[in-house]
Amino acid sequence: MRWELDWFESRARLTPNAAAIADASTGQEWSFREVNERAKAVAAWLQEKGVEKGDRIALLAPNEISYFDLLFACGKIGAIFVPLNWRLSIAELTFIIQDSEPKLLAFHSKFTKEVTMVWNQASECFQINGSNYQDLITSQKPIQPVDLDEEDPLAMIYTGGTTGKPKGAVLSHRAITWNSISTIASWNLTEKDKTITYLPLFHTGGLNALSVPILMVGGTVVLADDFTPKKAMKHLIRYKCTIILLVPTMHHMLVKSAEFQQTEFMDRKLFLSGGAPCPLDIYEAYQQKGLIFKEGYGLTEAGPNNFFIDPSDADVKRGSVGKPMLFTTIKILGEDGSEAPPGEIGELAIKGKHAFSYYWNNDRATENAWKDGWLHTGDLARQDEEGYFYIVGRKKEMIITGGENVYPLEIEHWLSSHPSIREAAVVGVHDEKWGEAVTAFLVLERDAILSGEEVKEYCRKKLAGYKVPKQIQFIAQMPKTHVGKIDKKQLKELAAKNQN
Ligand code: ATP
Repeated sequence: MRWELDWFESRARLTPNAAAIADASTGQEWSFREVNERAKAVAAWLQEKGVEKGDRIALLAPNEISYFDLLFACGKIGAIFVPLNWRLSIAELTFIIQDSEPKLLAFHSKFTKEVTMVWNQASECFQINGSNYQDLITSQKPIQPVDLDEEDPLAMIYTGGTTGKPKGAVLSHRAITWNSISTIASWNLTEKDKTITYLPLFHTGGLNALSVPILMVGGTVVLADDFTPKKAMKHLIRYKCTIILLVPTMHHMLVKSAEFQQTEFMDRKLFLSGGAPCPLDIYEAYQQKGLIFKEGYGLTEAGPNNFFIDPSDADVKRGSVGKPMLFTTIKILGEDGSEAPPGEIGELAIKGKHAFSYYWNNDRATENAWKDGWLHTGDLARQDEEGYFYIVGRKKEMIITGGENVYPLEIEHWLSSHPSIREAAVVGVHDEKWGEAVTAFLVLERDAILSGEEVKEYCRKKLAGYKVPKQIQFIAQMPKTHVGKIDKKQLKELAAKNQN
């Protein structure tokens, strides 16, 4: 057994009594020693159940401590932790269960019904709330040593499924450890840092962006669920959180809320956004409160953390995700595959020890992603002369209209800056004349009145004629994926339907 891979054991030895995890809904708190004891007990129990190196252990649960019991338990015995997205439909969950073939399924009683529908009754599953689990985590059976290497998988996280079926990204001990090391070093995280997990722990944003790095450095992770601005403000103040990661929709809800507007922040908290493009007016709202806001870029397959932006630059370089983090190499690839010069838009490619190994059961997707040792992200970006990177959008979402390349994000940013527009999404829709027609979907602020012609007029002030949406569609709500991103597949379908 290479014990240096089990860094959580070392952390528990270093700061046994410090608070590792707190649960905002129950008020419970666990020290590093307690979390490690729980993980050891679960690891020994899994081995008793016949779990061997390489076996998958799935979990279907809201944000709660069992995520860390199982992640660290799997780490100790070489099993692969597979957190499941409980927002998925039964058909989608069934796909993931069939794809990952877990040896055991752990679940919270909230999801008993789903489990009976997706789980093969012949195999075993166990409940992580209730007295049996309490007995299990307090037992003190020894763990049988397992030979582990840093390339061995530690977790498999399914991607957001924004562009198709979710893919199981296999993350090794090496990848998860190095994402944490480089996050800690780039962002200067310390044992004083506290985060709160409003993002789901089944997603890389909830698990790997901050939670695991903060535990590595000896800080505290506060568990929370069901984001509302009111709850978030209460928790931020009660737990004195120093760093918080939300998706753009949550930021929007938070900064618009009365609770946020009325709060005088006494300390400088760091608010991070990631997972999807963030409207630029969010920067303004945080700045006015004396708070620091930074946009990050990440993906399940790399980290997810890849960039760092210094607080003093975040405002000057609005819309930039910053420079590559420590131990991360990034380049922009032009159409011919060679490195593109500053200013040119191309595909973002990543190299680093934090990158994933391969997609589970999907060699074709793995071959498309890994080329010459570089992870091809499928995202478009550009770099400025000073080395700051800007995400331009997904390659798949680029619109070609009348032979011109149009990047939806540029239009979305401009549309979102209109005071009457709450959310904007731009897609390309098949068009006889233009090839694709730029189509904008808009959700207006409450009580706002705006006509399509006024929107076009607003666009003409800033955008070249071919970028001005040909069609404007007002909708009551933006369709979102299961991880809260705008569902452009649905919007395209809607646009096509409305055309007919
Ligand atoms: P799938 O790969 O299954 O289609 P997904 O791409 O949503 O789903 P995730 O790993 O959850 O899977 O998300 C990563 C993607 O999110 C990135 O590849 C990028 O397209 C988008 N993204 C992340 N951060 C940003 C950002 N700051 N700006 C724009 N897009 C972002």
